[in-house]
Amino acid sequence: MDQTKRHFLHLLGAGAVLAMAGASSLMTGAGNVMAATITKLKLSDAEWRKRLSPARYNILRKEGTERAFSSPLDKEKRVGTFHCAGCDLALFDSETKFDSRTGWPSFFQALSGHVETKTDFKLIFPRTEYHCARCGGHQGHIFNDGPKPTGKRYCNNGLALTFKPKSA
Ligand SMILES: [Zn+2]
Repeated sequence: MDQTKRHFLHLLGAGAVLAMAGASSLMTGAGNVMAATITKLKLSDAEWRKRLSPARYNILRKEGTERAFSSPLDKEKRVGTFHCAGCDLALFDSETKFDSRTGWPSFFQALSGHVETKTDFKLIFPRTEYHCARCGGHQGHIFNDGPKPTGKRYCNNGLALTFKPKSA
């Protein structure tokens, strides 16, 4: 092989590697954006027990569910934001809250990148569990019977949230 041809092949190879790198960063783009903006909070089980009330610990760290109609946040109608009760990350804007009549605070959209989901099989049918993207604290489950524009219903435990009214 002469020198020119070898050089050309070398360039081709480098181009292909670059193209692949570009494609893979596009594919994982959404996940990367979130990872870049939210620093994970990792605490030991003992630290969580110290930090949270037993009722909040049971929901946030053990995926418990509070009794329907037990949370005052179900009736919260002021303008503001709902934050994770474990780490204070803002999860929902009051503009996305609606009365689902289920007895749990319900939202049709979470703040972008601030919740993560997984599938759980605690009941017979699979459900979409969601949790705080920073501390991993369990919040609730997502159902597909919500209102427009998303059609989603984020069914949230009130004890997993704190409400911060918008200061006038
Ligand atoms: Zn959190």
